[in-house]
Amino acid sequence: MTSEAAADCLFCKIVAGQVPADVVASSDRVIAFRDISPKAPVHVLVVPKEHHGDVSVLAAADPSLLADLVALADEVATELSDGQYRLIFNSGPRAGQSVFHVHAHVISGAKLGWTPA
Ligand code: 5GP
Ligand code: ZN
Repeated sequence: MTSEAAADCLFCKIVAGQVPADVVASSDRVIAFRDISPKAPVHVLVVPKEHHGDVSVLAAADPSLLADLVALADEVATELSDGQYRLIFNSGPRAGQSVFHVHAHVISGAKLGWTPA
């Protein structure tokens, strides 16, 4: 599924208001909410309101929506932190993806180390 809500998708349920979330920002087509298990002082997930499985699917299907997502991520990092941030898309289970509705992790608010594996 690409553009409608996917059955049993946690982030589609958050977008629909069926699962509560700490929403920090939104735009026409994108929503940002705090990660339930933060790994940094600012750890926000930025999610298109439409369902797309991962970043490569989104980039192919709707590049302007991916650009909107990055723009909202930047806004969040500027408003909640100092505008310096790491943007992470985990793509695929071996890369750490556990929710298969594309989301960018905005990680900010601390000097970040680099331990990807
Ligand atoms: P992934 O592992 O797919 O890159 O990231 C999924 C993220 O979703 C994880 O960082 C996890 O903590 C977060 N998460 C899982 N369930 C929930 C939830 O119910 N609410 C919120 N706000 N975040 C969640
Ligand atoms: Zn979804």
